[in-house]
Amino acid sequence: MGSNACVFCGATSNRVKITNEHLFPDWVNTVLTPQVIGPSVSNTRTWTGKNEAPQSKTWPVNAASTTTVRIVCEPCNNGWMSNLEGSMKPILEEPILGRGRARFTAQQQLDLAAWACMKTMVFEYFWPDDGLVFTPDDRVIVRTHGRPPATARVDIAAVESQGQPLQAFRVAYSSPGTGPDAAQADDLSLCMTMAIGCFVVQVRGGPGAGEHGFTGYGQVRADSVSIFPPALPHANWPPANPLNDQTLRTFAHPRTPIGS
Ligand SMILES: [Zn+2]
Repeated sequence: MGSNACVFCGATSNRVKITNEHLFPDWVNTVLTPQVIGPSVSNTRTWTGKNEAPQSKTWPVNAASTTTVRIVCEPCNNGWMSNLEGSMKPILEEPILGRGRARFTAQQQLDLAAWACMKTMVFEYFWPDDGLVFTPDDRVIVRTHGRPPATARVDIAAVESQGQPLQAFRVAYSSPGTGPDAAQADDLSLCMTMAIGCFVVQVRGGPGAGEHGFTGYGQVRADSVSIFPPALPHANWPPANPLNDQTLRTFAHPRTPIGS
């Protein structure tokens, strides 16, 4: 899986080096060490295409996070993406390990939401052939503004999983009113859920980089907390009800339509 141009800034391989980006971040391996997760590790990814039953694949791995895709240029990888990753490890290390309680400021929530969107956009190049949901304009917003596209909603949750330190779920939706035959890639919305250790983050959204239209502050629910739009003044983690392996799968297939 590779690209001849950086998917975030458009720079082409005759001008810049196109480099590998980890799906799950490399620094996760320094948090979810073999001592923490034990010798037998597997990763799972689940995807749901339009009008399809969910498909799932699980594979054993030697380290928690090893998979990369070659889609971003060296300046992006070593610049804004590296900065975003660097700001995540200090605030996510304890939640990933399921230790204590975290309190994310509004700025931390925005950074975390931007990071989750960046990862979602990288994951888009790894999944099978649903087509891309986020557009080049959406990726520009994350790169230049350090925030999600306006249509995105980002929630955090907690999971007590049995032996699967990294899980990723992708659900693609056809937008209402387009009909099954009219569903093209640009009609799709996306729900991407990542579980890293005990920490869960979910990005929902579709194309639409435009202006912000927050309809309110972030909501606190029993099993999740909104961080984009942000919860004010803080987002407290974990939520009252942590997920387990079964309820995580339900959570990854939200019943409420995108945009509501
Ligand atoms: Zn780039």
